[in-house]
Amino acid sequence: MGTIKISSFLLFVIVCVVLTVSARTPQANKQIVIAAGTVLDGKGGVLRNTRIVIQGSKIVRIDPNAAPVDYDLRALTVLPGWIDSHVHITWSFGPDGKNAGAGGTTPYATYAAAANAWATLMAGFTTVQSVGSPTDLPLRDAIARGALPGPRILTSTEPLIGRNEQSGTPDEIRAFVRKQKEAGADLIKIFAAGSVRRPEMLLSQEQLNAACDEAKKLGLRTLVHAYKDAVRAAVLAGCTQVEHGPLATDDDLKLMVQKGVWLDPQAGLVMENYLLNKDKFVGTPGYPEEAFPAIKGMIPAYHDFFKQALKIPGLKIVFGSDALAGSHGRNAEEFIDRVRDGGADPMAAMISANSLAAEALGLGNQIGWIAPGLEADIIALDGDPLKDITAVRSVVFVMKGGIVYKQAQRQASNLGRVSTTAR
Ligand SMILES: [Zn+2]
Repeated sequence: MGTIKISSFLLFVIVCVVLTVSARTPQANKQIVIAAGTVLDGKGGVLRNTRIVIQGSKIVRIDPNAAPVDYDLRALTVLPGWIDSHVHITWSFGPDGKNAGAGGTTPYATYAAAANAWATLMAGFTTVQSVGSPTDLPLRDAIARGALPGPRILTSTEPLIGRNEQSGTPDEIRAFVRKQKEAGADLIKIFAAGSVRRPEMLLSQEQLNAACDEAKKLGLRTLVHAYKDAVRAAVLAGCTQVEHGPLATDDDLKLMVQKGVWLDPQAGLVMENYLLNKDKFVGTPGYPEEAFPAIKGMIPAYHDFFKQALKIPGLKIVFGSDALAGSHGRNAEEFIDRVRDGGADPMAAMISANSLAAEALGLGNQIGWIAPGLEADIIALDGDPLKDITAVRSVVFVMKGGIVYKQAQRQASNLGRVSTTAR
């Protein structure tokens, strides 16, 4: 590397550091004004040349005449912070560089989880649903009290893993669900089937009925990892959302529409990440060498299932990347897969991670939309994702709950006067 390259790299680092550091506490009475040229409001609306006014943690008005302007984002595309409905926020690589899973409790694993949270927030994801591990709990709570930067986390804590009879009687399954609630779970995650290669059901209809019914009684949503027959079984059991879903039939998907069940399919990132980080996964539990050629072969099957789902009228498709070790902070790649390879409309892809995802989380009146009364979760992209979906890689501004965590947008020559501090 030559001297010139080194110095420009250093300059880049310095700029990023300076611009990403700002206040961490929203001042209740201080008004913040964001000037925006283009706002995708999260529900499919586009606002032009306006200003978003924030007070404390909330958006209080949209007012083109609000002043003074604190953040001039007119050259960018502004939208609500994204919501990823399916991540494994604590899943990391270990000190040996190998896949270490999601349940680590060593200091190394703890810092790795905090780093995942930071990377996710910097990538524009202000809320994630982690499905999950009990190790999510202290991270969720530390972020919620403002002790660590990261996305708002909802967690399933320990998932119910289908093991046929060994998963227990319906009563035992109900007790397991109650135990998660007591531990602090925000939702229940259920593995009702194997993988796309081995899609057989791992819970009976009766067991699944018990799990989703008990959760419903406790006011918890149920996210069910399902393929093929397990998709219909989850719908019949009254579960809330199906994760993955390939090998489900059109009739199964139409039944989901009828029963209002959400679908969270993946169109590529999770598989691409396994291939990209093959050396780190291979040989670790669940990732034998011989599985890797099959993983490559699964990508088209996932694309095809995504396209199949798009054709079902009224099916509610939410954004979930299944981010795990290697893909935290790259969650937005899943948008590119969905649009480029899955044929999703770019605006629909944005909504799937904004208002639609918020609604699926039961937080539709709090996040996922740029409107008065909503949390001030606001991001900006250097580029227009409706014209070029790869703009989702260029998140240059991140505000969560009225606090700016990232501001590395193009410089004053493009934007006029730019404030670099939260005031
Ligand atoms: Zn997952």
